[in-house]
Amino acid sequence: PTLDVPDGESETARDDRARLPVLLTLPFPGPLDYLAPPPPETPPPGQLVRVPLGRREEIGCVWDRDSTVPADFAPPPESPVASARLRPVRGALDLPPLPVTLRRFIDWLAAYTLTPPGLVLAMALRAAGTEPRKPALGWVRGSADTASLRMTPARLRVLAALGNAPHGTADLSAASGASPAVIRAMADAGLLEAAPIPAETPFATLDPDFHRVTLSDEQDHAAETLRAAVRARAYSATLLEGVTGSGKTEVYLEAVAEALRLGRQVLVLLPEIALSAQWTERFARRFGAQAAIWHSALGSKRRKITWRAVLDGQARVVVGARSALFLPFPDLGLCIVDEEHDTAFKQEDGVTYHGRDMAVLRARIAGAPVVLVSATPSLETLANVEAGRYGHLTLAARHGAATLPHVALIDMRAHPPERGLFLSPLLTEAMEERFARGEQVMLFLNRRGYAPLTLCRACGFRMECPNCTAWLVEHRARKELACHHCGHTEPIPPSCPHCGADSSLVPIGPGIERIFEECRARFPEARLLVMASDTLGSPQATADAVRRISHREVDLIIGTQIVAKGWHFPHLTLVGVVDADLGLGGGDLRAAERTVQLLHQVAGRAGRADAPGTVLLQSYVGEHPVMQALVSGDYRAFMAREAAQRRPGFWPPYGRLAALIISANTAEAADALARAIGAHAPHLPGVEILGPAPAPLALLRGRHRRRLLLRAPRAIALQPILRHWLTGLRLGAQERVEIDIDPVSF
Ligand code: ADP
Ligand code: ZN
Repeated sequence: PTLDVPDGESETARDDRARLPVLLTLPFPGPLDYLAPPPPETPPPGQLVRVPLGRREEIGCVWDRDSTVPADFAPPPESPVASARLRPVRGALDLPPLPVTLRRFIDWLAAYTLTPPGLVLAMALRAAGTEPRKPALGWVRGSADTASLRMTPARLRVLAALGNAPHGTADLSAASGASPAVIRAMADAGLLEAAPIPAETPFATLDPDFHRVTLSDEQDHAAETLRAAVRARAYSATLLEGVTGSGKTEVYLEAVAEALRLGRQVLVLLPEIALSAQWTERFARRFGAQAAIWHSALGSKRRKITWRAVLDGQARVVVGARSALFLPFPDLGLCIVDEEHDTAFKQEDGVTYHGRDMAVLRARIAGAPVVLVSATPSLETLANVEAGRYGHLTLAARHGAATLPHVALIDMRAHPPERGLFLSPLLTEAMEERFARGEQVMLFLNRRGYAPLTLCRACGFRMECPNCTAWLVEHRARKELACHHCGHTEPIPPSCPHCGADSSLVPIGPGIERIFEECRARFPEARLLVMASDTLGSPQATADAVRRISHREVDLIIGTQIVAKGWHFPHLTLVGVVDADLGLGGGDLRAAERTVQLLHQVAGRAGRADAPGTVLLQSYVGEHPVMQALVSGDYRAFMAREAAQRRPGFWPPYGRLAALIISANTAEAADALARAIGAHAPHLPGVEILGPAPAPLALLRGRHRRRLLLRAPRAIALQPILRHWLTGLRLGAQERVEIDIDPVSF
């Protein structure tokens, strides 16, 4: 038969059919073209395939061009390779295709953050387990007839031990008492046949009605609104705002239940993996089984199982850190961002993205509702509510008998601590009272280690990190000075490195180790627990600490920001903030917002059950709007003031902002590069370039850093401007330019 080309189908049309774009996990601007196997073997979009690249073999994903990304966001398409030179795809992986919603999310995230899409795909595949899975084999009854064969007692025992599902050799041998050799001989004789053992699915069925609670009217109204959003099977965004302990979690779990009833998948993002232990326990009480957990500390085997279970749809609810956004949900029906204001959602290394904003994007692409949950919503989210882009639900009261804690200031100028100590007598007296009543106390100080600064009494020299613009923090328990930015450590020198004076170095200011020391001396009877990211190494250690607190095996908790998160400690009635002014230094415009959110969250740990709670803030600047907002509890008034400060200058969220972090191995090279890039800055109406100036950490890990800020009104997209600006930029081996869209500090 002759080749039959239908009329009108040109040569190029046939070429296109054979051309398969494959996105590799490498920093190319887009997918590369390969030669597709002919139908029906042509792999569909989303299929993971093996392809040649130079002499190597790479894993890639069959890509479809996305027409939804605005053309000026994405890099210009490359001129296609001639069909004759295309290399064939080698084969497909034994996995279902990546869902289209994940592929579009990757395209969008790449375009928004100006990252090569292959690097975003790499994040999505990091846990995929792309090596072929060999299913384990077990034995079932073979077709050979027992009557025609010699049946020993051992053989009969093996046949009796066979179940409905295949058993592996070892299991069968153990169950029957027959040796593996007997089993193999039976297989050779056709009495047994090999069959794949179905992979066990570790994700139990969740029961949406396992344990329901009776909601208050206010809670029920919010829950019903969210349930309706889930039933609508369409994108919507809602802020669920409520004071700490008002039942926000209880309410959004109702939305989760509704998604489960519809058989859909749910993603819950938490800012801190440490939180997931208490959260999953509570989840299990509500739904009768555990949610799938996802975070970077998960073992690689568990990650692979979870990744696959998400893709297969067996894992219905995933709770995790921001990287869970890249899981291959085929049927995402709801997305929740708990503590949405938390800046821990911002990923700063590698691909910089904001987990909260990307959750909204993920939900929009999936056509699913997203719920942002907070007691202290970010100004970004409040602005979206105000603009009508997000819905808004509020829970005004704490649940049941619990009332909001009473917040009071301790004016440290009027009630200073004794010399060399850090707790005001007003605070220690209040602590004593709680201990006498058998109640728990928490002290909060957002500083790890013993002292944040080591100073020479003789010459005033300060111990600084050799690689960073940062002081070295004394860690007395480890007997060393450490940099919290690069990890540099050194022993505490016996004499000043600058003037040589002996034993002249003294610790200045408190870290939590020092507060621990003060409390141990002041309250020798109290049982103390320190909670910091470096003392609680693993989620398991955190879970143990939380259990000890809940079981009242602890009287006093001393912690860094890890204690601020959404914990529920019913016996805790007093929270003391050792240094409420701590976050206010530095020139960051967002410092006040962040401090209020953090301290409000810390305060919310007090009095979550029947006993009323008290919060005492030690401050030298009681008149500061941040302190006044915390005492009055009027978060809205505070945020209105913040908004008024940012609006005129088009600072986020009232304008768009991007940072260029320019770095080199010497200060001169960094300055020169920053000036050169600054000199090429575009001149566009409405677009402002600020800098170059030293970046917030001007020296980090030995690299000298400068920053340029690009600011524009909301109507102007920054990505095309940046793309144009940096096109053709040639960097030396030691030079780098990182783009941070929507930086959290400015
Ligand atoms: P939030 O997330 O706003 O801090 P939670 O959902 O954690 O609040 O609720 C605080 C506490 O009150 C939890 O122990 C929760 O189980 C309990 N709670 C809230 N609402 C109810 C309710 N309707 N019935 C029973 N307990 C509730
Ligand atoms: Zn350092």
